[in-house]
Amino acid sequence: MFKHIMNKIIEAKERAADSNSPSLMKEEELNGVLFGKYEIRRLIGIGGFAKVYEACHLLTKQIVAIKVVNKQDVTEQSLSMEAANMRRLNHPHIVKLYEVLTTETKIFLVMELAKGGELSDILVNGGPFSQDQYRRWLQQLISAVQHCHSRGVFHRDLKPENLLLDEKLDIKVSDFGWSATTEDIRPDGKFHTLCGTPAYMAPEMINREGYNGDKVDVWQCGVVLYVLTFNALPFNGPDALTTMREISRGLVWIPHWVRPESLRHLIKRLLDPNPKTRITIDEILKDPWFREGYTEIKLTSCHLKI
Ligand code: ADP
Repeated sequence: MFKHIMNKIIEAKERAADSNSPSLMKEEELNGVLFGKYEIRRLIGIGGFAKVYEACHLLTKQIVAIKVVNKQDVTEQSLSMEAANMRRLNHPHIVKLYEVLTTETKIFLVMELAKGGELSDILVNGGPFSQDQYRRWLQQLISAVQHCHSRGVFHRDLKPENLLLDEKLDIKVSDFGWSATTEDIRPDGKFHTLCGTPAYMAPEMINREGYNGDKVDVWQCGVVLYVLTFNALPFNGPDALTTMREISRGLVWIPHWVRPESLRHLIKRLLDPNPKTRITIDEILKDPWFREGYTEIKLTSCHLKI
Protein backbone atom coordinates (compact mmCIF):
# COMPACT_ATOMS: atom_id res chain seq x y z
CA MET A 1 0.00 0.00 0.00
CA PHE A 2 2.81 2.43 0.92
CA LYS A 3 4.62 1.81 -2.36
CA HIS A 4 1.42 2.60 -4.20
CA ILE A 5 0.99 5.85 -2.24
CA MET A 6 4.62 6.84 -2.75
CA ASN A 7 4.39 6.17 -6.47
CA LYS A 8 1.42 8.50 -6.62
CA ILE A 9 3.35 11.23 -4.79
CA ILE A 10 6.43 10.77 -6.97
CA GLU A 11 4.28 10.81 -10.13
CA ALA A 12 2.60 14.04 -8.98
CA LYS A 13 5.99 15.61 -8.23
CA GLU A 14 7.36 14.55 -11.60
CA ARG A 15 4.31 15.94 -13.36
CA ALA A 16 4.78 19.21 -11.48
CA ALA A 17 8.49 19.33 -12.26
CA ASP A 18 7.93 18.52 -15.94
CA SER A 19 5.25 21.09 -16.39
CA ASN A 20 6.75 23.66 -14.11
CA SER A 21 10.46 24.20 -14.22
CA PRO A 22 11.06 25.12 -17.85
CA SER A 23 8.63 28.02 -18.16
CA LEU A 24 8.28 30.56 -15.33
CA MET A 25 11.62 29.88 -13.66
CA LYS A 26 13.58 30.52 -16.84
CA GLU A 27 11.82 33.79 -17.51
CA GLU A 28 13.30 37.16 -16.66
CA GLU A 29 12.02 38.73 -13.48
CA LEU A 30 9.02 41.02 -13.83
CA ASN A 31 9.57 44.73 -13.51
CA GLY A 32 7.79 47.99 -14.26
CA VAL A 33 4.09 48.63 -13.76
CA LEU A 34 1.52 45.85 -14.06
CA PHE A 35 -1.95 46.55 -15.41
CA GLY A 36 -1.23 50.27 -15.05
CA LYS A 37 -1.60 50.07 -11.27
CA TYR A 38 0.93 47.83 -9.51
CA GLU A 39 4.56 48.87 -9.51
CA ILE A 40 6.78 45.80 -9.09
CA ARG A 41 9.45 46.36 -6.42
CA ARG A 42 11.29 43.06 -5.94
CA LEU A 43 11.07 39.28 -6.07
CA ILE A 44 10.34 37.94 -2.58
CA GLY A 45 9.79 34.24 -3.06
CA ILE A 46 9.85 31.32 -5.45
CA GLY A 47 7.50 28.38 -4.97
CA GLY A 48 6.98 25.16 -6.88
CA PHE A 49 4.76 26.86 -9.42
CA ALA A 50 5.01 30.55 -8.72
CA LYS A 51 7.13 33.62 -8.31
CA VAL A 52 5.97 36.09 -5.68
CA TYR A 53 6.77 39.80 -5.95
CA GLU A 54 6.40 42.77 -3.65
CA ALA A 55 4.55 45.56 -5.44
CA CYS A 56 3.01 48.93 -4.70
CA HIS A 57 -0.55 49.87 -5.65
CA LEU A 58 0.09 53.23 -7.27
CA LEU A 59 -3.18 54.91 -6.27
CA THR A 60 -3.39 53.89 -2.59
CA LYS A 61 0.37 53.26 -2.05
CA GLN A 62 -0.57 49.98 -0.40
CA ILE A 63 2.22 47.39 -0.56
CA VAL A 64 1.01 43.99 -1.75
CA ALA A 65 2.36 40.57 -2.70
CA ILE A 66 1.67 39.36 -6.24
CA LYS A 67 1.89 35.64 -6.95
CA VAL A 68 2.55 35.06 -10.64
CA VAL A 69 1.87 31.73 -12.27
CA ASN A 70 2.18 30.71 -15.91
CA LYS A 71 -1.07 29.25 -17.17
CA GLN A 72 0.82 26.40 -18.84
CA ASP A 73 2.31 25.33 -15.48
CA VAL A 74 -0.91 24.72 -13.60
CA THR A 75 -4.42 23.88 -14.55
CA GLU A 76 -6.42 27.06 -14.48
CA GLN A 77 -8.99 25.14 -12.49
CA SER A 78 -6.56 24.41 -9.63
CA LEU A 79 -5.49 28.04 -9.33
CA SER A 80 -9.03 29.34 -9.55
CA MET A 81 -9.94 26.85 -6.77
CA GLU A 82 -7.12 28.28 -4.63
CA ALA A 83 -8.34 31.81 -5.35
CA ALA A 84 -12.01 30.96 -4.83
CA ASN A 85 -11.27 29.30 -1.49
CA MET A 86 -9.16 32.26 -0.33
CA ARG A 87 -11.92 34.65 -1.36
CA ARG A 88 -14.30 33.03 1.13
CA LEU A 89 -12.01 34.00 3.98
CA ASN A 90 -11.55 37.25 5.86
CA HIS A 91 -9.50 36.87 9.02
CA PRO A 92 -6.64 38.87 10.54
CA HIS A 93 -4.39 35.77 10.55
CA ILE A 94 -5.05 34.61 6.99
CA VAL A 95 -3.37 36.19 3.96
CA LYS A 96 -6.08 38.20 2.24
CA LEU A 97 -6.63 37.81 -1.49
CA TYR A 98 -7.38 41.23 -3.00
CA GLU A 99 -7.86 40.46 -6.66
CA VAL A 100 -7.07 38.05 -9.48
CA LEU A 101 -5.78 39.39 -12.79
CA THR A 102 -4.97 37.47 -15.95
CA THR A 103 -3.23 37.92 -19.27
CA GLU A 104 -3.20 35.45 -22.13
CA THR A 105 -0.36 33.48 -20.51
CA LYS A 106 -0.25 34.39 -16.81
CA ILE A 107 -2.39 34.56 -13.70
CA PHE A 108 -1.68 37.12 -10.96
CA LEU A 109 -3.00 36.72 -7.42
CA VAL A 110 -2.77 40.09 -5.67
CA MET A 111 -2.54 39.40 -1.94
CA GLU A 112 -1.81 40.94 1.40
CA LEU A 113 1.95 41.11 1.92
CA ALA A 114 3.39 39.23 4.90
CA LYS A 115 6.60 41.15 5.55
CA GLY A 116 8.13 38.83 8.14
CA GLY A 117 8.70 35.78 5.90
CA GLU A 118 8.02 32.16 6.82
CA LEU A 119 7.66 30.89 10.40
CA SER A 120 10.00 28.02 9.46
CA ASP A 121 12.79 30.50 8.64
CA ILE A 122 12.39 32.52 11.80
CA LEU A 123 12.43 29.35 13.91
CA VAL A 124 15.81 28.46 12.41
CA ASN A 125 17.34 31.94 12.30
CA GLY A 126 15.46 34.07 14.81
CA GLY A 127 14.97 31.96 17.96
CA PRO A 128 14.90 30.93 20.67
CA PHE A 129 11.36 32.08 21.43
CA SER A 130 9.47 31.77 24.69
CA GLN A 131 6.65 29.34 25.34
CA ASP A 132 4.34 32.39 25.50
CA GLN A 133 5.30 33.26 21.93
CA TYR A 134 4.62 29.69 20.75
CA ARG A 135 1.25 29.79 22.50
CA ARG A 136 0.44 33.10 20.82
CA TRP A 137 1.24 31.62 17.40
CA LEU A 138 -0.88 28.55 18.14
CA GLN A 139 -3.77 30.76 19.30
CA GLN A 140 -3.61 32.75 16.06
CA LEU A 141 -3.35 29.58 13.96
CA ILE A 142 -6.30 27.90 15.69
CA SER A 143 -8.42 31.04 15.32
CA ALA A 144 -7.56 31.16 11.58
CA VAL A 145 -8.32 27.44 11.13
CA GLN A 146 -11.61 27.82 13.01
CA HIS A 147 -12.52 30.63 10.61
CA CYS A 148 -11.63 28.48 7.57
CA HIS A 149 -13.85 25.65 8.84
CA SER A 150 -16.71 28.03 9.57
CA ARG A 151 -16.54 29.07 5.89
CA GLY A 152 -16.36 25.45 4.72
CA VAL A 153 -12.67 25.60 3.76
CA PHE A 154 -10.08 22.99 4.81
CA HIS A 155 -6.42 23.94 4.32
CA ARG A 156 -4.83 20.44 4.39
CA ASP A 157 -1.24 21.72 4.13
CA LEU A 158 -0.61 23.55 7.40
CA LYS A 159 3.11 23.65 8.22
CA PRO A 160 5.58 26.35 9.32
CA GLU A 161 6.57 27.03 5.66
CA ASN A 162 2.96 28.04 4.94
CA LEU A 163 2.61 30.16 8.06
CA LEU A 164 3.90 33.60 7.12
CA LEU A 165 4.51 36.40 9.58
CA ASP A 166 3.76 40.10 9.44
CA GLU A 167 5.94 42.88 10.83
CA LYS A 168 4.57 42.28 14.36
CA LEU A 169 5.50 38.58 14.09
CA ASP A 170 1.82 37.65 13.88
CA ILE A 171 0.76 34.63 11.82
CA LYS A 172 -0.71 34.91 8.32
CA VAL A 173 -1.81 31.51 7.02
CA SER A 174 -0.99 31.22 3.32
CA ASP A 175 -0.81 28.80 0.39
CA PHE A 176 -4.30 27.41 -0.11
CA GLY A 177 -3.04 25.31 -3.03
CA TRP A 178 -4.21 22.05 -1.40
CA SER A 179 -7.33 23.48 0.19
CA ALA A 180 -10.76 21.98 -0.39
CA THR A 181 -14.31 22.89 0.53
CA THR A 182 -17.38 21.10 1.78
CA GLU A 183 -18.54 20.92 -1.87
CA ASP A 184 -15.56 18.66 -2.64
CA ILE A 185 -16.56 16.06 -0.05
CA ARG A 186 -17.41 12.68 -1.59
CA PRO A 187 -20.87 11.09 -1.18
CA ASP A 188 -19.56 9.01 1.78
CA GLY A 189 -19.07 12.31 3.65
CA LYS A 190 -15.24 12.18 3.50
CA PHE A 191 -12.26 13.43 1.52
CA HIS A 192 -10.03 10.84 -0.12
CA THR A 193 -7.25 12.86 -1.76
CA LEU A 194 -3.75 12.17 -0.49
CA CYS A 195 -2.21 15.62 -0.35
CA GLY A 196 -0.01 18.04 1.55
CA THR A 197 3.43 17.25 2.93
CA PRO A 198 4.35 13.72 4.14
CA ALA A 199 5.67 14.70 7.61
CA TYR A 200 2.44 16.62 8.30
CA MET A 201 -0.07 14.07 6.94
CA ALA A 202 -2.59 12.66 9.39
CA PRO A 203 -2.68 8.85 9.86
CA GLU A 204 -6.23 8.51 8.51
CA MET A 205 -5.14 10.24 5.27
CA ILE A 206 -2.18 7.88 4.85
CA ASN A 207 -4.25 4.82 5.74
CA ARG A 208 -6.69 5.71 2.95
CA GLU A 209 -9.70 5.45 5.23
CA GLY A 210 -11.35 8.58 3.94
CA TYR A 211 -10.96 11.57 6.23
CA ASN A 212 -12.58 14.71 7.57
CA GLY A 213 -10.82 17.95 6.58
CA ASP A 214 -11.26 19.52 10.02
CA LYS A 215 -9.62 16.56 11.77
CA VAL A 216 -6.66 16.63 9.39
CA ASP A 217 -6.17 20.38 9.94
CA VAL A 218 -6.21 19.85 13.72
CA TRP A 219 -3.60 17.08 13.41
CA GLN A 220 -1.38 19.42 11.38
CA CYS A 221 -1.74 22.12 14.07
CA GLY A 222 -0.49 19.41 16.46
CA VAL A 223 2.58 18.80 14.31
CA VAL A 224 3.20 22.57 14.21
CA LEU A 225 2.95 22.80 18.02
CA TYR A 226 5.32 19.83 18.35
CA VAL A 227 7.84 21.53 16.04
CA LEU A 228 7.55 24.78 18.01
CA THR A 229 8.04 22.99 21.32
CA PHE A 230 10.81 20.54 20.44
CA ASN A 231 12.37 22.09 17.36
CA ALA A 232 11.99 18.69 15.68
CA LEU A 233 9.33 16.82 13.72
CA PRO A 234 7.32 14.15 15.59
CA PHE A 235 7.64 11.78 12.61
CA ASN A 236 10.82 12.12 10.63
CA GLY A 237 12.13 9.07 8.81
CA PRO A 238 15.11 9.07 6.44
CA ASP A 239 12.64 9.31 3.54
CA ALA A 240 8.97 10.11 2.95
CA LEU A 241 7.97 6.44 2.84
CA THR A 242 9.45 5.67 6.27
CA THR A 243 7.98 8.87 7.71
CA MET A 244 4.53 7.89 6.47
CA ARG A 245 4.94 4.38 7.91
CA GLU A 246 5.79 5.91 11.29
CA ILE A 247 2.74 8.17 11.13
CA SER A 248 0.47 5.30 10.18
CA ARG A 249 1.66 3.36 13.25
CA GLY A 250 0.47 6.38 15.18
CA LEU A 251 2.97 6.24 18.03
CA VAL A 252 4.29 9.67 18.80
CA TRP A 253 7.12 10.09 21.27
CA ILE A 254 6.70 13.18 23.40
CA PRO A 255 9.86 13.96 25.40
CA HIS A 256 9.11 13.43 29.09
CA TRP A 257 10.91 16.61 30.17
CA VAL A 258 8.36 18.92 28.59
CA ARG A 259 6.74 21.27 31.09
CA PRO A 260 4.12 22.14 32.02
CA GLU A 261 2.28 18.83 31.95
CA SER A 262 -0.72 20.66 30.41
CA LEU A 263 1.34 21.39 27.27
CA ARG A 264 2.33 17.72 26.98
CA HIS A 265 -1.34 16.79 27.39
CA LEU A 266 -2.44 19.17 24.61
CA ILE A 267 0.22 17.86 22.17
CA LYS A 268 -0.97 14.31 22.92
CA ARG A 269 -4.59 15.24 22.30
CA LEU A 270 -3.76 17.02 19.02
CA LEU A 271 -1.65 14.09 17.81
CA ASP A 272 -4.25 11.48 18.74
CA PRO A 273 -4.02 8.97 15.85
CA ASN A 274 -7.73 8.25 16.14
CA PRO A 275 -9.61 11.10 14.43
CA LYS A 276 -12.77 10.21 16.36
CA THR A 277 -11.17 10.91 19.74
CA ARG A 278 -8.75 13.64 18.59
CA ILE A 279 -9.35 17.00 20.25
CA THR A 280 -11.74 19.32 18.38
CA ILE A 281 -11.31 23.06 17.82
CA ASP A 282 -14.04 23.78 20.40
CA GLU A 283 -12.16 21.67 22.95
CA ILE A 284 -8.83 23.34 22.09
CA LEU A 285 -10.43 26.71 22.82
CA LYS A 286 -11.21 25.44 26.35
CA ASP A 287 -7.81 23.79 26.93
CA PRO A 288 -5.98 25.25 29.99
CA TRP A 289 -2.55 25.60 28.30
CA PHE A 290 -4.07 27.10 25.15
CA ARG A 291 -6.31 29.53 27.03
CA GLU A 292 -3.59 31.26 29.01
CA GLY A 293 -3.59 34.92 27.95
CA TYR A 294 -6.06 34.21 25.15
CA THR A 295 -8.22 37.06 24.03
CA GLU A 296 -10.70 36.21 21.35
CA ILE A 297 -9.42 37.34 17.99
CA LYS A 298 -11.91 39.79 16.55
CA LEU A 299 -12.81 39.59 12.89
CA THR A 300 -12.58 42.94 11.20
CA SER A 301 -15.61 43.53 8.99
CA CYS A 302 -13.34 43.97 6.00
CA HIS A 303 -9.68 44.72 5.49
CA LEU A 304 -9.79 45.27 1.77
CA LYS A 305 -8.12 48.56 1.10
CA ILE A 306 -7.72 48.36 -2.65
P1 ADP B 1 3.82 27.78 -4.45
O1 ADP B 1 2.34 27.64 -4.16
O2 ADP B 1 4.17 27.73 -5.87
O3 ADP B 1 4.66 26.88 -3.60
P2 ADP B 1 4.02 29.84 -2.54
O4 ADP B 1 2.62 30.27 -2.31
O5 ADP B 1 4.61 28.89 -1.58
O6 ADP B 1 4.18 29.28 -4.00
O7 ADP B 1 4.95 31.12 -2.54
C1 ADP B 1 6.32 31.09 -2.84
C2 ADP B 1 7.11 31.89 -1.82
O8 ADP B 1 6.63 33.25 -1.78
C3 ADP B 1 7.00 31.34 -0.43
O9 ADP B 1 8.30 30.99 -0.05
C4 ADP B 1 6.49 32.43 0.46
O10 ADP B 1 7.38 32.65 1.51
C5 ADP B 1 6.44 33.67 -0.43
N1 ADP B 1 5.08 34.26 -0.30
C6 ADP B 1 3.94 33.72 -0.76
N2 ADP B 1 2.89 34.51 -0.47
C7 ADP B 1 3.38 35.59 0.19
C8 ADP B 1 2.78 36.76 0.79
N3 ADP B 1 1.46 36.97 0.72
N4 ADP B 1 3.59 37.64 1.41
C9 ADP B 1 4.92 37.41 1.46
N5 ADP B 1 5.55 36.34 0.93
C10 ADP B 1 4.80 35.43 0.30
